[in-house]
Amino acid sequence: MLRAVLLGPPGAGKGTQAVKLVDKYQVPHISTGDIFRKNISEGTELGVKAKSYIDAGKLVPDELTCEIVTSRLLEDDCANGFLLDGFPRTIFQADKLDQFLKENGMKLDIVINLSVPSEQIISRLSGRRICRSCGASYNIVTIPPKKEGVCDRCGGELYQRKDDAPETVASRLKTYDEQTAPLVDYYKNTGVLADFDGTKDAEAIFGDIVQTIG
Ligand code: AMP
Repeated sequence: MLRAVLLGPPGAGKGTQAVKLVDKYQVPHISTGDIFRKNISEGTELGVKAKSYIDAGKLVPDELTCEIVTSRLLEDDCANGFLLDGFPRTIFQADKLDQFLKENGMKLDIVINLSVPSEQIISRLSGRRICRSCGASYNIVTIPPKKEGVCDRCGGELYQRKDDAPETVASRLKTYDEQTAPLVDYYKNTGVLADFDGTKDAEAIFGDIVQTIG
């Protein structure tokens, strides 16, 4: 049983840790970014709504995002826990999540905050490549795949996210500073925040997180 949130700026390594954590704790990985990207590629109504915000490096409106997450959390596979990745991203969303959990007799075990200095974020994002099939994350400089353009885990094709382009990255970082960074204090005040040094290598960070979860 694990009910957890992954917090941190874009490119902090949330996706990388998420893959490892859901494998160890056997809980569903709920990434709002992945949900939006899937809907965009399938051309759904939600995808159409979300695309313009994502392409501009802005947040998808709170009400819409919260609705997606709360209905996902009500699915059977979340009964024994979940890992939220990229949600909440605003105080409004955090309040909604808190209210939802209370109403359903649940509470968060941990909010995993990955800290990475902003000067490192830009190079991390520009080198990031994602697997089209399984969502695994690589970096052509720091965590290259064994074979260029091919996922080590599943052999899928690696691609660069459109919003990892330099002009969108600046806007995403501003959005993070203004709207998401305040969540660090928000969760510090509730006593569930655990800070991790996101500049360490992925295995070491994972070890630190697992030790803290206990
Ligand atoms: P991510 O894959 O987590 O970096 O998310 C990619 C993009 O999806 C973000 O830059 C936002 O535009 C949008 N997005 C993801 N999660 C949220 C959220 N919780 N609230 C609003 N927008 C989100």
